[in-house]
Amino acid sequence: MSKTIQAVRGMNDMLPADAPLWEFFEETVRDWLRGYGYKQIRTPIVESTDLFVRSIGEVTDIVEKEMYSFEDRLNGEQLTLRPEGTASCVRSVVQHNLLYNAPQRLWYMGPMFRHERPQKGRYRQFHQVGIESLGFDGPDMDAEHIIMTARLWKLLGLEDVALEINSLGSAEARANYRAQLIAYFEQHADVLDEDAKRRLHSNPLRILDTKNPAMQAMVEGAPKLIDVLDEASLKHFEQLQQMLQAANIPYRINTRLVRGLDYYNATVFEWVTTRLGAQGTVCAGGRYDSLIEQIGGKPAPACGFAMGVERLLALMQDQGFEPPADGPDAYVVHVGELADKVAMTLAEDIRNAGFNAVLHCGGGSFKSQMKKADASGARYAVIVGDDEAQAGEASLKPLRGEGEQVRVPMAQIAEGLRG
Ligand code: ATP
Ligand code: MG
Repeated sequence: MSKTIQAVRGMNDMLPADAPLWEFFEETVRDWLRGYGYKQIRTPIVESTDLFVRSIGEVTDIVEKEMYSFEDRLNGEQLTLRPEGTASCVRSVVQHNLLYNAPQRLWYMGPMFRHERPQKGRYRQFHQVGIESLGFDGPDMDAEHIIMTARLWKLLGLEDVALEINSLGSAEARANYRAQLIAYFEQHADVLDEDAKRRLHSNPLRILDTKNPAMQAMVEGAPKLIDVLDEASLKHFEQLQQMLQAANIPYRINTRLVRGLDYYNATVFEWVTTRLGAQGTVCAGGRYDSLIEQIGGKPAPACGFAMGVERLLALMQDQGFEPPADGPDAYVVHVGELADKVAMTLAEDIRNAGFNAVLHCGGGSFKSQMKKADASGARYAVIVGDDEAQAGEASLKPLRGEGEQVRVPMAQIAEGLRG
């Protein structure tokens, strides 16, 4: 026998036992998005490598070490499995000129790929639901994004997710701050780890985000961007806070929140939980007013966020969430030559009446079929023997909870299922 082949490390199967949870999540998300008037966009999973380098930024974890990039064997093109959705979404909007005369509220859902060290809540293929609002410049859109996520947590029954916000200001404010920050870090060069030293001149803001305990105290004392924000960003940030207060959404300003992608400016936010260990960020986003232009479009403001589906599902499970049962309404059991003949039509009739039906396939004794009916999670077994078939009838046996088995004309089965 040949050796079995395993899934690629860090890439998971979604097995049928997990489907009810995933489906509940996806359906809840679709309804929720409809409630806010967002439209779905789907983009290819593979894009030109250049798209991500240009948008996410050369000196970021993603571009430096996490991308699955390869050369197309036939034409030598440099391609990458998408590590996130914003760049592709903006690329598509620009390519199809979707911002021509109207702003857009868009969403997407699907797999993303990053070559990270696999651990709980961190995979090499993972899923995101993301939202991008393009062509909106006011804090009202930032507030909408935060308010809508707060609603989603309620719909999913999630507690213990806390909101952190910050403002990264304008590119100019950030450039001034960057110089201050480099000077500060240079004064503390003895505390900087290898990663920080490497980033000192290329991406010093990211050093604020370090998880190294030995650097925490030093980083705490660093100058704060919020203290040197440009006036417009400060006003935007204050207005956003007023809107959050009016909506009764508690938040904490985290001046060290900088996000790992270069395209952000002004508002950034994260929803974090302490229940998932180190992988506590379940949703993150912010404003990226220069990205559309950077990708070759006519300048337009934009903001968005993405959430990690696996982390949200883990949080739901951690809180004991039980997805609704996904058994069919009826499982059709049939034994005997004539019964076998009518069963398929009967199952179709049940479906015509608007119910889900699983038709037993593969034969077997009455007893073994009833076992399968029970295991399917069906509400009712619909039983046909040659006897019933002769008489144009079937028996309806409740499988969950109370109730007697009744024998009724086949035409009345749907009514029985309704009751
Ligand atoms: P982290 O700091 O945890 O690496 P990130 O800043 O790289 O997160 P984003 O690029 O902002 O993450 O992606 C948005 C969300 O997608 C994250 O908040 C997280 O919930 C989820 N996510 C990111 N990377 C992974 C991964 N490798 N596995 C599972 N979920 C992930
Ligand atoms: Mg990351």
